[in-house]
Amino acid sequence: MSELGATLVDLQHRFRAALDAAPDDRALDAVRVGYLGRNGEVTQLRRAIGTLPAAERPAAGKLINEAVEAMEAVLSEASTRFEARDVERELARTVDVTFPAIAPLTGSINPVRRIVEDACAYFRRHGFAVVIGPEIEPDYYNFDALNIPADHPAREGFDSFWLTGTLLLRPHTSPMQIRTMQQYRPPIAIVAPGKCYRRDAVDARHLFQFHQIEGLLIGEGIHFGHLKGMLAGMCRELFGTSQSVRFRPSFFPFTEPSAEVDTTCPKCKGGGSHCGMCGGSGWIELGGAGMVHPNVLREMNYDPEIYSGWAFGFGAERLGLSRYDVDDVRRFINSALDFLEQLQ
Ligand SMILES: [Zn+2]
Repeated sequence: MSELGATLVDLQHRFRAALDAAPDDRALDAVRVGYLGRNGEVTQLRRAIGTLPAAERPAAGKLINEAVEAMEAVLSEASTRFEARDVERELARTVDVTFPAIAPLTGSINPVRRIVEDACAYFRRHGFAVVIGPEIEPDYYNFDALNIPADHPAREGFDSFWLTGTLLLRPHTSPMQIRTMQQYRPPIAIVAPGKCYRRDAVDARHLFQFHQIEGLLIGEGIHFGHLKGMLAGMCRELFGTSQSVRFRPSFFPFTEPSAEVDTTCPKCKGGGSHCGMCGGSGWIELGGAGMVHPNVLREMNYDPEIYSGWAFGFGAERLGLSRYDVDDVRRFINSALDFLEQLQ
């Protein structure tokens, strides 16, 4: 190897060692200036080319250029290393990147709320509008307009929270039937979900605050078959086809004829005997339904000779029992998130 070649190899070794030893950017730059700067070692070697015989000069120049190229590559690597180290230091000052991350907590919808939303979605698909209304209502909307005058014994059945002599927390969502019929003329197709209140003792099937889904369809030629079809369809949508639904003749002042709608008891699966949940019947009541009473239509100035309609009011918590195979409505509200998160 020529003398120049040996000098350049040695120089590159020293250059690399000096870069490795440099503690910071500034030291790195000092190394660069010392070797590659205007008065650096490499520049001095270039100047020395002039003292060589003319024939050797091109080869010497080439050797030096190659050495410079290699040194610049090493220098660029070193400064990249420094930049990465700077970023790391900056992060370490503000964030401990080794600290375990906090798992994100995502909220979920309460199963009762989901039932209400799914039921409303079903009716919306069939052209119904969703309406909501006040939870505090005058007795007119809760009772009088629904064919339950002040002296009617049916009022006793609604064990209500009275706020004043005439105002009460609504014991059912049916006031929304009246509010809607007051505002619009037939045809009417609404569902009205919302909270209701009754002075019921709390047990596996009762809460004093619960949710109802009210439905009302008024038009010409509306009959009980429409009601059965729509409610059976809703139950299929909410429960699938494994649950049975039955209509049982009943009495309500605001519908005639009236029915109570039951579904298979989720606890005994309809078996009945000794089942504490359904009292041995094998069925759980979802709510009431029927054809709107002519007196209610008359009260709204709808001619019962022209218009007919049906209405229903189902308990959302009761629907939840069947849908989720839960045996106690209190489980929907006791904040046991581990349990509730399974019911999605
Ligand atoms: Zn049962």
